[in-house]
Amino acid sequence: MSHLQPVRGTRDLIGGTCRRFRHIARTAADTAALYGFEEIETPLLESSAVFLRTLGETSDVVSKQMYVFQDRGGDEITLRPEGTAGVARAFISEGLGQHLPLKLFYAGPMFRYERPQKGRYRQFQQFGVELLGVDSVQADIEVIAAAARVLRALKVDHLAKLQLNTIGDQESREAYRRNLVAYLRGHVAELSEDSRARLEKNPLRILDSKDDGDRATLRNAPRFEEFLNEASKAFFARLQDGLSGLGLAFEIDPLLVRGLDYYCHTVFEFTTDAIGAQNALLAGGRYDGLIKSMGGPPTPGVGWAAGTDRLELVIPELTPAPRPVSIVPLGEAAEREAPALGERLRAAGLRVDIGYGGNMSKRMKRADKIGARAAVILGEAELAKGVAQIKDLRQGTQREVALADLAKELARDD
Ligand code: AMP
Repeated sequence: MSHLQPVRGTRDLIGGTCRRFRHIARTAADTAALYGFEEIETPLLESSAVFLRTLGETSDVVSKQMYVFQDRGGDEITLRPEGTAGVARAFISEGLGQHLPLKLFYAGPMFRYERPQKGRYRQFQQFGVELLGVDSVQADIEVIAAAARVLRALKVDHLAKLQLNTIGDQESREAYRRNLVAYLRGHVAELSEDSRARLEKNPLRILDSKDDGDRATLRNAPRFEEFLNEASKAFFARLQDGLSGLGLAFEIDPLLVRGLDYYCHTVFEFTTDAIGAQNALLAGGRYDGLIKSMGGPPTPGVGWAAGTDRLELVIPELTPAPRPVSIVPLGEAAEREAPALGERLRAAGLRVDIGYGGNMSKRMKRADKIGARAAVILGEAELAKGVAQIKDLRQGTQREVALADLAKELARDD
């Protein structure tokens, strides 16, 4: 690896790409605010224990993907691979249990040591919501509605399909797990190595396998729905009714499970055909066992996380940023005057670039290159008269304007 290249799986986001990322984060935050989600920003660094306990030691994230290091004081630290565990840690350490129900929104970078490909990076950005303290299905319906509204606000709703499943309550899951393991034991020879390793420790994860052989074996595996108890069935039925009532279309995917160990009942994903292999745009579910498993007060929760990098690949082009005006000072006196003129115009809300060195033609070229809509030409003669020339770079016309009227005239042209 060359040390002057970005680290594998990380990227420099520059100019227009940065603007698209910011647009996504801002649209998501504004939409979440419509539902009363408050922002939370947890540290990028957490004690490794935060993830070991919550994600489960056999999960892919913990066993293969975490950036773990010992800091100079000898503490085991992890660069956060996802947002929920940190929010749950903050919930406990900040005593947020006093304020239930709690609706939180977050956005920021996450880190996973995965094999990079289109839509999959080692540093990537997510935003997400968590709704804590509500065990009724209303919460699931609301967070899914919020997800759908974010995708609509980003104009990608026509590309995204909602996939839904239930993994039931604990009792249902135990019953299913026993039956699934019994079935898969009979097909051990056909399973991939990863799935074989999961068979005893985390068999539900096998449902998630992308391996073709595993998927063929799973086709005849027992189905979760056969093992759901009445309470779990009722919960899932109410969820589907609620979503239909809001006009949200969904498909049921019986193989959809979450890679993380603390989920129950609702599991969902918005997927797209527009990217290729990395087809999940947003994924979430209910995680009633999480906060208790971390040593906090038993607190139900439901939430989701979306991948900003993947959304950036599919959102339409943004309306271009407003074009700036370029001040072109000619001569020493004008150059001295240009910064103050720039400040006055910016105070009036205009975007202003000042052509630095070179002759008139060089500075006009710069104005052109940055997409300026007008050049404000300030020469010695103009300065002495208290005027400037406004050259409209779209029409090629030029007119003389008093310096005192510049801001008004330029704003009128925009
Ligand atoms: P997860 O936390 O794995 O449920 O992921 C939630 C969302 O984050 C996914 O649906 C993706 O859109 C996004 N995501 C997860 N991992 C990556 C990655 N390595 N690179 C880019 N986006 C990712």
